[in-house]
Amino acid sequence: MNNLSTCKEWPLLAQKALNGECLTEEEGLAVLEASDDEVLPLLQAAFQVRKHYYGKKVKLNMIINAKSGLCPEDCGYCSQSIVSTAPVNKYTLLDKGTLLAGAREAMARKAGTYCIVAAGKGQTDKELAQVVDAVKEIRETMPLKICACLGILKDEQAQRLAEAGVHRYNHNLNTSKANYPSITTTHTYDQRVETVEKVKTYGMSPCSGVIIGMGETNQEIIEMAYALRELDSDSIPINFLNAIPGTPLEHAGRTPAMKALKVLALFRFICPSKEIRVAGGREVNLRTLQPMSLYAANSLFVGDYLTTAGQSIGVDHQMIEDLGFEIELNAL
Ligand code: SF4
Repeated sequence: MNNLSTCKEWPLLAQKALNGECLTEEEGLAVLEASDDEVLPLLQAAFQVRKHYYGKKVKLNMIINAKSGLCPEDCGYCSQSIVSTAPVNKYTLLDKGTLLAGAREAMARKAGTYCIVAAGKGQTDKELAQVVDAVKEIRETMPLKICACLGILKDEQAQRLAEAGVHRYNHNLNTSKANYPSITTTHTYDQRVETVEKVKTYGMSPCSGVIIGMGETNQEIIEMAYALRELDSDSIPINFLNAIPGTPLEHAGRTPAMKALKVLALFRFICPSKEIRVAGGREVNLRTLQPMSLYAANSLFVGDYLTTAGQSIGVDHQMIEDLGFEIELNAL
């Protein structure tokens, strides 16, 4: 048992985070290995940091799966990969009208950010032009922020997206550098980092996060948080693996809800000012403890994920209201 593992210590970690200091690995391990009895005081400390930067506001994001399945990559968690036998929809890039209809749906759900996500290692220039065309019209007609997630980017593609008005670009690190080859062999961790750096070069806001529950150690979770702090990712989606039958990781167990809360507190301490989103797998891993996640995280996905269902928008809005929190519109 780590000696930094009582409720007396958590406010010190919060203060350290607010002072701009990074947690040591020992302190990070104390968070992740804390007894479940410590989760309430731990979240209370994380909440002080969250409140400092975001008050009680909750940012909502909605995803559209703009191109589904048919992906030649072999990401072990993904139902759209070439090595998955999961029965997912397979379609090429959605037309402009459908992408615009998705944006209107995001507005109806009070999402401030609309995330256009397409399967694949990257997109062709023709596909990118289709996205650019839709983004321009959304930007002209709706007060939405746009996040694109289109895989590895070429320089000119990054420039075209930025010029079209894409605010943010998502490219997750997913797991630690050491664990990466056991999850994906068709591209590398370093290629992921390069894309996030490219996003910053072209003036888009970087969004990069992780998937917890893919065989990583606690030390590796801390490494991921350090890597994202170093990358200065503005937005950090914390996904918890939803093991989909037919994927290589189908037998990975779920992350216990209490562990998921400790992970969220850890990221709040290590990346204190960043938008931390409790992302994919929220419903199946946190289950009835979902509301507690918002004491550390300040952002949610609403609606469905890429190939799995989310909970109803009414339940998400009710959860936020019941917590006494408030939806932040049009935030990035
Ligand atoms: S995560 Fe993306 S790149 Fe990897 S298999 Fe799925 S769609 Fe393809």
